[in-house]
Amino acid sequence: MARYTGPVCRMCRREKEKLFLKGEKCYSDKCPITKGAKVPGQHGASRKKATGYGIQFREKQKVKRYYGMLEKQFRLYFDIASKKEGVTGDNLLRICESRLDNVVYRLGFAMSRAEAKQLINHGHFLVNGKKVDIPSYILEVGDVIDIKADSKDSAKIKAILAANDQKPIPSWLDLDKNTCTGRVADLPDPAGIDLPIEVHLIVELYSK
Ligand code: SF4
Repeated sequence: MARYTGPVCRMCRREKEKLFLKGEKCYSDKCPITKGAKVPGQHGASRKKATGYGIQFREKQKVKRYYGMLEKQFRLYFDIASKKEGVTGDNLLRICESRLDNVVYRLGFAMSRAEAKQLINHGHFLVNGKKVDIPSYILEVGDVIDIKADSKDSAKIKAILAANDQKPIPSWLDLDKNTCTGRVADLPDPAGIDLPIEVHLIVELYSK
C-alpha cells in the first residue's frame, strides 16, 4: 500500500499546523512549527491564497495526516459517517477518534499515532482480552484495552508509560495506571481534539 515516507515534520509545515506526529519533539522547542518554519518548497512562502476547493482540500489533508490515514480509508469513514444519525462531520471525527491506534496514543501507551500503529502491528495490545493487531480497528463504548502482560515488562513500553505519566486523558476514556488498562467510557468528544478542525469544509468537499 502506498504511504508517505518523506520527512514527517514537512507535513505539519505544509498544513501550517502542529499535527503532533513525532511524539516528544512536538512538545519541545525543537518543533519546526514552534520555531516558525515556513511552508516547504521553492514557492512555499509565496503560494497564492487558497480559496473554495483549495481550503476544503487542505482541511481534509490536515485531518488525514493527523490520524495517519490514506484517502481510501478516510473516504470510507466519511461514507459511514454520512449514513449515521446526527451531524456527519461529528460522526466522521468520532470514527477517527475511535480507531485503536488513536486510543492507544490517547491513553499514553505510545508517544505518537505512528508509534501506536507499530506497537499494535507487533501485537502488544488486547481488546476485551483478545489480541488485536489492526491499527484501524474501531472501538466501541465499553471496550477495554490492555497492554499484553509480557509487553508491560519491555523496556520500550516502560519508557513510554513513564514519559506519559502526566499526560491528560480525554474525558471519554478511563485509564487505570496501576494495571495499564484503558476503557472507552463514552463516545469520543470531537470538541476535545487538540487541532483546530473545520470539519464542515470536509463534508462540503465530499458532498460535491
Ligand atoms: Fe514535527 Fe511534531 Fe512539530 Fe509536527 S508538531 S512539525 S511532527 S515536531
